[in-house]
Amino acid sequence: MPQDRERPDACPGAVDVHRAADGGLARVRVPGGTLTAARFDVVRQAALELGDGWIELTSRANLQIRGLAPGAEHELGARLRDAGLLPSATHERMRNTVAAPLEDNQDLVDAVDAALCRVPELAELPGRFLVTVGESVSGLGGDIGLVGDALFLAGRDSGLRVTDPVAAVVAAAREFQAVRGTAWRLSEVDGGVRKITAALGRPGPDRIAPAVIPVAPGPHGDRLVAGVPLGRLDARLLAGTPVRVTPWRSLVLPAGADASGLFTDPASPWHGVTACAGRPGCAKSLTDVRADVVRWINTPHRGRVHWSGCARRCGRPPGDVVEFVATGDGYEEIR
Ligand code: SF4
Repeated sequence: MPQDRERPDACPGAVDVHRAADGGLARVRVPGGTLTAARFDVVRQAALELGDGWIELTSRANLQIRGLAPGAEHELGARLRDAGLLPSATHERMRNTVAAPLEDNQDLVDAVDAALCRVPELAELPGRFLVTVGESVSGLGGDIGLVGDALFLAGRDSGLRVTDPVAAVVAAAREFQAVRGTAWRLSEVDGGVRKITAALGRPGPDRIAPAVIPVAPGPHGDRLVAGVPLGRLDARLLAGTPVRVTPWRSLVLPAGADASGLFTDPASPWHGVTACAGRPGCAKSLTDVRADVVRWINTPHRGRVHWSGCARRCGRPPGDVVEFVATGDGYEEIR
């Protein structure tokens, strides 16, 4: 049965902000993660002048500005619109496209995004809707994905091979909207993948395995991948720099960019360490999680580590993770 969602998803937008404990929280969709220097400067300045001076990177390669005063979202929206970062008032929250960040795929992402925004009924897709483009992000559980000519549905290769990837994504999105009922994700719709596959064509026998291949910090040809500690970027950094946001809390920069305040060595103690918002942003938090992580960070550790300010454990990455969960009397370690 489709999972019954009693309420619409509460994903924030750039103007339809979430009221967090530390003020308004705006999420700026960046399909494919690519921002010109001029556009990134608009986001940076907005974070400095309207928010708390930081930019958060999300696991879908979007950006968040928090600490907005009541009403500041209107000024934020105006700035983003002027910069071309809010191309659709109606489709804003569904514009979630994560792309393999080292592949030459931004034109395809832009074409998919524009085509989705041209279909009025797709404005009703949930804020959780996700499109993936490229192999290295194909395992991130997109509702719809492209790997070359292969069409993925609910994070798996459907077996369908497409000649027009843009039209195929739009067609699959329309079918998802038609069958989803109150579900937020295609994976929640009973028989959803089968119905969409049948509507779009005949699957072949071959299947590509979904993959998640994070880009390591460091040089990659003419680019530099820089990790952002805890996914929280000081908005004073990277002025005049084009960036590509990855889904792994890092930025792809031009080689030679000034990466002060970021890390470019995979051996950095920050590599693989994540944390929820904690105090002051989350009223449920038992502690200032990020400050606690800063105090701990030079304690020897390996692999992925996630810190949470309460038992809800928001933002826990999938897979093997050591967790520290605040109890009100320190942290419980969960392995
Ligand atoms: S894990 Fe708890 S403290 Fe952290 S963001 Fe979620 S609700 Fe807030």
